[in-house]
Formats: sequence, C-alpha cells, structure tokens
Amino acid sequence: MKTRTAQEIWETALGELQLQVSKANYRTWLEKTRGLSYQDNLLILGVPNTFIAEYLNKNLRSLVEKTLIGILQRDVQVRFTVDNPGRNFEAQPAAQVSNMPILPTVVAASAPLTRLNPKYTFDSFVVSSCNRLAYAAAMGAADKPGLSSYNPLYIYGGVGLGKTHLLNALGNSACQQGMRVILVSAEQFTNEFVNSIRERRTEDFRSKYRNTDMLLIDDIQFISGKEQTEESFFHIFNELRDADRQIALTSNCPPHSIPMIEDRLRSRLEWGLSAGIQAPDFETRLAILADKAGKEGVKLAPDVLEFIAEHIKQNIRELEGSLNRVVAYAKLLRTVVTPELAGEALQDISSRQPKALPSPTLLLDTVADYFNMDMQDLKSPKRDKQTSYARHIAMYLMREQTDFSLSHIGRELGGRQPISVSQSHKKISLDMISDPAVKQTINEIQQKMAANKSASHA
Ligand code: ADP
Ligand code: MG
Repeated sequence: MKTRTAQEIWETALGELQLQVSKANYRTWLEKTRGLSYQDNLLILGVPNTFIAEYLNKNLRSLVEKTLIGILQRDVQVRFTVDNPGRNFEAQPAAQVSNMPILPTVVAASAPLTRLNPKYTFDSFVVSSCNRLAYAAAMGAADKPGLSSYNPLYIYGGVGLGKTHLLNALGNSACQQGMRVILVSAEQFTNEFVNSIRERRTEDFRSKYRNTDMLLIDDIQFISGKEQTEESFFHIFNELRDADRQIALTSNCPPHSIPMIEDRLRSRLEWGLSAGIQAPDFETRLAILADKAGKEGVKLAPDVLEFIAEHIKQNIRELEGSLNRVVAYAKLLRTVVTPELAGEALQDISSRQPKALPSPTLLLDTVADYFNMDMQDLKSPKRDKQTSYARHIAMYLMREQTDFSLSHIGRELGGRQPISVSQSHKKISLDMISDPAVKQTINEIQQKMAANKSASHA
C-alpha cells in the first residue's frame, strides 16, 4: 500500500469533515490545521493556537477520530498541537517514521498533564523595571530550556504580581516548541502525591513527573513542612535536573526564606536563577491597564486609567478587577466613565489597600509644617484659601493612609462633617490627576511624614 503522509490523510479527512460541520465552524476551527505526523495510529495535527487546540480537543475530537477511522479503517487517535512552522513534520511519509522513537512532541491540548492557561503568554505580559529580570529569565529558559544557569528558574514575589502568568508563558512557549510540559500548583502536586500513596501508585506518580521535558510548579512554598511530599519532589527534582530538563518554580518568597524546608532542597532551589517581582510602579500599572482595556475593547479616557492606576497599588489582579468594575459600573448607570465615577466604583476597594497608619498627630503636624502653619489652624474654623487647601490635603492623606472612618477624620479636624471629608478626598484625588504640582505636594508630604515617623521611632 502506498504510504500516505500525515497531511494527505488529513486532507482527505478535512474533505469529509467539511460536509459534517457547519461552514462557520469549519472555517473557525478546522480550516487552518494540518497533518504533522502519523505513527502508531496517532495522528498529530497542527493548529494555529492553544485556544483552537483546546476547542477542538473538547468539542470536535470524537467526530474527527470517527472520520479518520472511517478513512483508515483502523483505530486512530488524534492530538492537536500548536503548529510550529519551523518544524517540518509533513515531509516524512508515515511508514518511514513508524520505527522512530516517539517524538518528544505535543500536546498543549490533549495531554491531561498540562493545564496551561493560553491567555498567559509572554506577549500579553507587560514588562517594566519591577518584573524585567523575572521576564528575561523566563524568556531565557524558554529559549534554552534545561540550560543549567536557568535551572531551576525560581520566580518569587507578592500576590497578584504575575508569577503564575510568567510560569504559564514559559509553559506555553515550550509546548509550542513541541515539549512535554507539566504545570501544577504545589498544592495539586501534594494532593496527587498523597493520593498515589493511598492508592499504592507512587511509581506512576514518579514516572509521570520524571518523564516530562519541563516541570512547572506554582507556589512551591506550599510544600514546606510536608516532609514526604518534599522528599518526593527532591528526588524528582534531581532526576530532571540531571537529565537537563527545565524546572521552574514560583513562590511568595526567595528560596532562603521558605520556612521549614530541608537545607538540601533549599540549596538546590538556589542553584539556578532566582528572580523577584516587585509591586508595579505607577507607569507599569498604567501600561497594564491600557493594555487590558485595549484587549477588552473598552475605551477609557487617560485620566480614568490614571485614576485607577493611582488608587490600586498593590496588585495587578486587583488592578484588572478594578478596571472591570469601573466599566461594569458605567454600563449599569448608562453613563460615560469619568475619574469621579471611577472613584465611586472603587470606593471600597481603594480604602482596602494596606495602609501605613501614621498617627493623626504625626499626619496633621507634618501637613501643618509643610504649609508653615500651626496644627491648630487645621482644626480651626479658619476658611482662608491656604488653610482650606492644607485641610483638604490633610483629609485626603488621612483617608488614604489610615483606617479611620469619614466621621473619625472629621473629628480629628475639629469636628467637620463626614461629607466634607469625602468631598475633600475626591477633590484632591482629581486635582492630583489634573495638576502635577498637587501630586508633587502629596508626595513631598508623604516623604516628610515617613522621615518624621522613623525619626520618632529612632
Ligand atoms: P501571581 O501568580 O503572582 O499571584 P498572576 O500571575 O496570577 O499573579 O497575575 C494576576 C493577574 O494579573 C493575571 O490576570 C495576570 O495576567 C495579570 N498580570 C500580572 N502581571 C502582569 C503583567 N506584567 N502584564 C500583564 N498582566 C499581568
Ligand atoms: Mg499565582
């Protein structure tokens, strides 16, 4: 029998599939696919991206297999993998490849091992000074997986700063290069290990993890204190690294600060490259917001984005949440988004940000000093321009930097109404956006306050 290439087989199947699915479905999901390799009754199909791979895998796989079985008259399985045009599978006829060892290819979508999030890619990651090293390190590992200077790659940082995103980006890139990738959270890893003991399948467990080209474990700090899991991870780690397979881990802290792990594991975590991610600065927050807004197709004025970036500081996940919330709020009220509206939508979120909690006396004293007046002036009924302005600033700062309620702040400032505290806060928030001098003033006072605070502690 004439040997047929994977692509020939697939073209025949596409001809039949075209009759079986709607035109729209065919165009969306099947048209841009090709046969990459066929061996041992496994047909590997290249698709343009992980999203399509996942869709096909979930929704059209059985139809595709049925069609192929009809054509080839034998049991056939398919796998969808993201097509890497640099790799030319289709030149080889099926018969010639059948004796070759199985290619270390595949399988973004169909491998049960891999739960990569296709949205988390290097392209969708906004790079700035806060995450540049981690980004470059992950790119390096994607470029030369297994190279010892990046192995293991260890990315650490606070919540919502992009660790999981980078880990997935590395995994997605490796999948596209045809590598076998496992990404799990340390929690899943632990559960799986514990189950394997209970079900007496520890060998299966180990062989699954030993036979991957890349192992990505998210939030590795979770295994600290779980001795047996740690031990098992230790052995898998050694085997993979000895075989130059890439390992990448994320954590909420650097290797030396993970509590309760054995020194031998700790030292191994320090073998490769550790890269921290810091909380994003204002420019980064703004860039991320602009990027997300663009992707979601929502148009927001620059001052609104700035307002959100100004108020949501700690965490990129919250930043995204806030953006969605502002947009939803505006839709609900059927109105355009202004910084003021954003302020309303985010009121409780921005007041949840962790605060440094300076004492009211320190705060008022610093503000009064900055404006060359007496602290009592801020509390007095005086309403001249300078005093009122200083008072607005004091209210703003107290709202931002303490946990006091509006009424409490009102009392600290000589018995003012909560509403006027809230208005002052809003006014200064807006002024900070429209007038760089106001922002500068706030920054300077905050710096003085920090300096005074540490002086009073010294
Ligand atoms: P972590 O794992 O550090 O807690 P995640 O990776 O889950 O944080 O990130 C939280 C959210 O913020 C995700 O939706 C992620 O896509 C987004 N995100 C984080 N950092 C960036 C970045 N630099 N560029 C774009 N999006 C980011
Ligand atoms: Mg995470």
